[in-house]
Amino acid sequence: MKFATAYSLSLDDKLSIYDVRDLNFDETAAYDSDKDSFLCPNDACRAAFEVGNTLATFNAKNVNYLRTPHFKNRTGTQHIDGCRYASLHKAASGESDDTREDNFPSEFVLTRRSYPRKTPAAVSQGQALPAPANPPANRVSLPVSSSDTPPDKTSVFAHPVECYVSNIDDKDRLKAMPLKIGEHTATYWTFFKKIEYLQDNKGLIYWGKVKAIKDYTSSFRIDFDKKVWLDKKPYSVNVYLSKKLIENYRKRTAFLEQIKAAASSERALYCFFYGVTPELKQVPSKKNPEQTFGVFSANIENLDHLIIREAPGLQTF
Ligand SMILES: [Zn+2]
Repeated sequence: MKFATAYSLSLDDKLSIYDVRDLNFDETAAYDSDKDSFLCPNDACRAAFEVGNTLATFNAKNVNYLRTPHFKNRTGTQHIDGCRYASLHKAASGESDDTREDNFPSEFVLTRRSYPRKTPAAVSQGQALPAPANPPANRVSLPVSSSDTPPDKTSVFAHPVECYVSNIDDKDRLKAMPLKIGEHTATYWTFFKKIEYLQDNKGLIYWGKVKAIKDYTSSFRIDFDKKVWLDKKPYSVNVYLSKKLIENYRKRTAFLEQIKAAASSERALYCFFYGVTPELKQVPSKKNPEQTFGVFSANIENLDHLIIREAPGLQTF
């Protein structure tokens, strides 16, 4: 049984596992999911037990993961009768499938969710939970429903990407699931665009197999395997990541770990990005600087909206 969200005791809020990952890697936030307690997202169920009745996390800290991150029951986790998470302790049917993301957010929010800290009133193990509190009025965060239904929005790019990657064998599902980004509403299927077809539409999530990652003095360059065809001529595609951008990134360490592992990896890797559309540019030839050649290129502006990862299902797709 996978939980789309869990109640975080330290933040007094419901988080997705992608929120937890974002917090774990954020060097400006003193957060460590190993020191937090995650409880059933069902308010009534949670209130019935002591805070030691926790859920476990899966892939909350692994920078380069293959299997879908999630919350899950521990062996001894209890639920009240009628809790929707109670009957699903064990895989009853094929439904409990750890290998896909079942919670499709219908909106990818471009401004990052903030996670206001609960005042560090000592909450010790064994203490009964207070009744669910009303959120403070000054809280700036995505609306969190008071029910236990999964949140409909996310600001963590890895979440919609995992939905797409882990469900790539189910085209009908991807075509049925709506996704909104900014003013643009489409389905998961149409929002994710293979890099070679980037001329079809602007403002999509482009993705493609990585051919090479070049480490330059002031930037990394990610070259894509596939080429873009224009007027019957093939053009290479790449994106640049400025090192200055990375240096100032709040998830700098995790990002460098990801890109350095990627640069030296022998395995097939895929890059997903949102926010910029590579455009045809003329750049000087290295061998003959008098000459120029065309390449589709873009500078990544927001590292939150770029992912390099393995995605075995995409190899045959
Ligand atoms: Zn429960």
